[in-house]
Amino acid sequence: MENRFRQATGQVLAPLKELLPALESLYTDVHAHPELSMQEQRTAGLAAERLRAAGYEVTTGVGGTGVVGVLRNGPGPTVMLRADMDALPVAEATGLPYASTVTATDREGRTVPVMHACGHDMHTTWLAGAATLLAQARQAWSGTLAAVFQPGEETAEGARAMLDDGLYKYFPKPDVVLGQHVMVASAGEVGGRTGTITSAADSMQIRLFGRGAHGSMPQAAIDPVVMAAATVMRLQTIVARELSPNEAAVVTVGSLQAGTKENVIPDEAVIKLNVRSYDPQVRTRVLDAIKRIVNAEAAASGAPKPPEFTMLDSYPLGVNDGSASARVGAVFRDYFPPARVHQTGPTSASEDFGSFGQEWQVPAVFWFIGGTDPDTYAKAKAAGEVNKIPSNHSPFFAPVLHPTLETGVETLVTAALAWLAGDAAAGADKSADGHADEQADAHGHGHAHGHAHGH
Ligand code: ZN
Ligand code: ZN
Repeated sequence: MENRFRQATGQVLAPLKELLPALESLYTDVHAHPELSMQEQRTAGLAAERLRAAGYEVTTGVGGTGVVGVLRNGPGPTVMLRADMDALPVAEATGLPYASTVTATDREGRTVPVMHACGHDMHTTWLAGAATLLAQARQAWSGTLAAVFQPGEETAEGARAMLDDGLYKYFPKPDVVLGQHVMVASAGEVGGRTGTITSAADSMQIRLFGRGAHGSMPQAAIDPVVMAAATVMRLQTIVARELSPNEAAVVTVGSLQAGTKENVIPDEAVIKLNVRSYDPQVRTRVLDAIKRIVNAEAAASGAPKPPEFTMLDSYPLGVNDGSASARVGAVFRDYFPPARVHQTGPTSASEDFGSFGQEWQVPAVFWFIGGTDPDTYAKAKAAGEVNKIPSNHSPFFAPVLHPTLETGVETLVTAALAWLAGDAAAGADKSADGHADEQADAHGHGHAHGHAHGH
């Protein structure tokens, strides 16, 4: 590794220890005050405040509640660092002293509990910390840094909303877009890979139409309950019978609703399903198969009209650029002890992070950071019970503060400096050439480190 990179890293990260109490209070504050997707007013305010204090040009209200901080620090590459800010409608059950007791009104007007069950509070804190440290040590690097706090990741809206609002008019076209996520794995460990990192996700609603009648007169009805039941079972044959053993996808029917009373055959049934895939061709085949099966089952039942399909949300496939992820991997392996940096398989979780790189056709790299107490994780692993550790989206999800907080700041800083600390970049490329690809190939489509969670 080039000296300039190591020197810059040392200078930027030297005050991290002093900054930790402030980051800890930012984290517990955001955790205790979670906000639903696209409602992140307070969190956005805190992010903007930190950026302004650190000397960034700050724009708020980008794509709703998004915040963009730009630091122009001489000639050189432009690096965009991204964090998401939204929480979930989950009732927190962690019992932590800073647990959320917040409720909010969702889009349907219902009062729901709110919790940072996916760790986006950690992401917000990491980015605030890295942005502060990089601004304090401006002499150590050169280029333009864009810190982007996005709303609405859990609803697949936020990245798109910021892009549609002209995100890239605030800073030059980035040379790389970097992002990270906390997950179940030993705290302080970092996992990533070249190529596919997060799955594509597609959710849809399907209305099946029948003809209602008295429960005692099936001859007068076209029963949408039976139609829906047959459809759900047959949908499970797509992955089992239409994909090859080497292809991967998930088809989950997460909601099936019909009828109100035991002796009334209803008029319609509504299915909501979610598809995960790792390959654009597999994705198309699965989505086509769903339509074919749903239409055919409706026809088989003699439905009075064809089913109605509504796409609910769509997350792009997350793909880590080859040379950019080799560069990130090289600086991580240089900075952290080797035991803390792992190659992972792609996770079945999905992210709208990929939208940023796709929009401008620039490389993007996304990685994972463990948040589970190392002892707890080691014991669970030894007992074969890693799946029992509360994962993202669980009401018990509770990353440990240390070393999770410092690790995510260190990864963002070192990854950014891989571009911003000049000649370090070329050195990292050389040392990583081929190496990372080889490892990624060897791991193929293995399981993700820790375990996957779904958005
Ligand atoms: Zn999530
Ligand atoms: Zn998340």
